[in-house]
Amino acid sequence: MPRPILATIHTQALAHNLNVARSHAPDARVWAVVKANAYGHGIERAFNGLRGADGFALLDLAEAQRVRDLGWRGPVLLLEGVFEQRDLELCSRLDLWHAVHCNEQIDMLAAHKTNVPQRVFLKMNSGMNRLGFRPERYRSAWTRLNALPQVDEISHMTHFSDADGAAGIARQMQVFDATTRDLPGERTVSNSAAVLRHAGVPGASDWVRPGIVVYGSAPDFPEHSAAHWGLQPTMTLEAKIIGVQHLQPGDTVGYGSSFVATAPMRIGVVACGYADGYPRICPTGTPALVDGARSQTLGRVSMDMLSVDLTDLPNAGMGSTVTLWGRAANGAVLPIDEVAAKAGTLAYELMCALAARVPVVVDA
Ligand SMILES: *Cc1c(COP(=O)(O)O)cnc(C)c1O
Repeated sequence: MPRPILATIHTQALAHNLNVARSHAPDARVWAVVKANAYGHGIERAFNGLRGADGFALLDLAEAQRVRDLGWRGPVLLLEGVFEQRDLELCSRLDLWHAVHCNEQIDMLAAHKTNVPQRVFLKMNSGMNRLGFRPERYRSAWTRLNALPQVDEISHMTHFSDADGAAGIARQMQVFDATTRDLPGERTVSNSAAVLRHAGVPGASDWVRPGIVVYGSAPDFPEHSAAHWGLQPTMTLEAKIIGVQHLQPGDTVGYGSSFVATAPMRIGVVACGYADGYPRICPTGTPALVDGARSQTLGRVSMDMLSVDLTDLPNAGMGSTVTLWGRAANGAVLPIDEVAAKAGTLAYELMCALAARVPVVVDA
């Protein structure tokens, strides 16, 4: 028998969350962002849940090929554009739209031999200082692109650094608007947090680019929860209890003896560890569901195992199912955001880190 650990991808939840994003941006078309192998879900596994999107946005050309192999004929956008000259041939062959964020990419386009002009998304660095042309360079980049026979339509794109927090998007929107106002072309600015928190930004978006909301995580947790936004978990990680220990006061749990019992306890040893993608840094007290009832981890996470408290769960024991995040069989939900917060990180990182050794099923 394989190790009793399993991840489940929830197709209906993906479709539901995509609709939540859509409902906040009813006039925009929606890119489902599927970079990083659909945030760790697997592009092929997530595809059925996301096929209601208007397009797929990602950044790895091999992943773009996989989206085409699934039969998707609609728009595919490379969020970072091309990395080298010959990538443009694949763009032509697979009909990929691509971001243009630097002069080197314009040089590559100018040298590209094609009869079919390409659709590009000119990216502005409106303050995040990651990719893009600074506002004062943006219009000359546009003029240069616009003169190339290799280029068809030019859209405008920027990315927010603070859509999830107090700083918000106003400053970046002002720069973006002022620079692009009189230029033709579609616009795309909003990630998940902007879609949920800054709906109806004037003139903002012909296309929105939600990623994390589609995967059921609240981009502004803990200010708001996934439940607050009406989002459903799209990935469940669960494993079974493969051992039970009875502790006396003074007994310890796991490496480093970091947890010390102060009363008699019963604990379950779960077949999930950091080699499965569960963060080793999660401290004692990280929530977990045992047969759908809320409990918590005890002691350090090992490579292949972790421990949970069964003291108040007399019916739980060998073979019980522990939900590390996601939805339990009884419908109870443990938001991945809560586990991520205990690990001092974001749900993004946990989803993306699901280990290859974990078997995955898709519930249709
Ligand atoms: C990842 C990414 C997104 C999606 O971000 P979320 O926070 O997951 O919604 C949107 N746009 C760009 C350019 C990205 O890189």
